Amino acid sequence: MSRVYNFSAGPAVLPEEVLKEAAAEMLDYKGTGMSVMEMSHRSKAFQQIIDEAEADLRELMGIPDNYKVLFLQGGASLQFAMIPMNFMKHGTADYIVTGQWAKKAYQEACKYGRANKIASSEDRTFSYIPDCSDLPVSDDADYVYICENNTIYGTKYHKLPDTKGKPLIADVSSCFLSEPVDVEKYAMIYGGVQKNIGPAGVVIAIIREDMIPEEVDETVPTMMQYKIHADAGSLYNTPPCYGIYICGKVFKWLKSMGGLAEMKRRNEEKAAILYDFLDESRLFKGTVEKKDRSLMNVPFVTGDEELDAKFVKEATAAGLVNLKGHRTVGGMRASIYNAMPREGVEALVAFMKKFEAENA
Ligand SMILES: *Cc1c(COP(=O)(O)O)cnc(C)c1O
Repeated sequence: MSRVYNFSAGPAVLPEEVLKEAAAEMLDYKGTGMSVMEMSHRSKAFQQIIDEAEADLRELMGIPDNYKVLFLQGGASLQFAMIPMNFMKHGTADYIVTGQWAKKAYQEACKYGRANKIASSEDRTFSYIPDCSDLPVSDDADYVYICENNTIYGTKYHKLPDTKGKPLIADVSSCFLSEPVDVEKYAMIYGGVQKNIGPAGVVIAIIREDMIPEEVDETVPTMMQYKIHADAGSLYNTPPCYGIYICGKVFKWLKSMGGLAEMKRRNEEKAAILYDFLDESRLFKGTVEKKDRSLMNVPFVTGDEELDAKFVKEATAAGLVNLKGHRTVGGMRASIYNAMPREGVEALVAFMKKFEAENA
């Protein structure tokens, strides 16, 4: 067996300890004589798995009691529709468009009401976060929406927008649990877990209770009503059981590592290794404004497409895989999520130095 350093943006690297534990429990989960994939979601064993997962997540993030934690399906993309369907009570919402995922969420919301694009960084290929200190927030906005870490472009809000009192909703798919978070600043935090937490197929939504409407338009599908899932403890229908089980293991792994403050310290250290090199390199350069750099997704280019392709190919041969940039941006992108060890980033930088010496 040989593991590579996997820089995929998602589905992405998971902690080896978690994978080993899951492998050991595959045939017989804690004396049940079956795997978690094979057990009823109404069983005692599974109820304990989902209860512990929620409790551990609450502890890690410091989630207050007046917030629901929901384990949902449909990817982050289904939330693009569920959010306006449930929260556009007055038919208006404001969107800050800082990348493709925010743009898709905005476009989806346009189907259900008046969605206003109140700021955007599309003019410079989403390479920065716009100034959000004095936005034209709509008086009747039901919420203000952001994508907090832009997976494709490699930018992150280092300061949340001033929403002028309107509820803030954030897609945190690619920065989930990468650093401590003040949950009370948000009305809703959500993300697909396949970037920084677990296997694709699970979405976690953390929603302040007073946001969840008692009633929504009767045309909203039952499965797309937050209240249905909240009232049923995420067990209205069969949830993605195995995915939730792995997420639960990752939460325990994060706790054992020292929690989110420690993850932040590690993530800053890892990102600095790569950014410091990019800032001094003669061949490679980062593509986003320094002040808005993401700790999780690091895009870079040589400025020559052929050389980029050569780099990706040779890196792959050296066991540094999935470094090709998103198809819409080109170049390279290294995603260095929680589970990417420091050694992986060091190996990448060592390889970049060698490649630079050979090709610059
Ligand atoms: C990957 C990603 C999505 C889309 O996730 P799906 O689960 O594939 O729908 C949405 N938002 C962000 C920030 C992402 O990184």
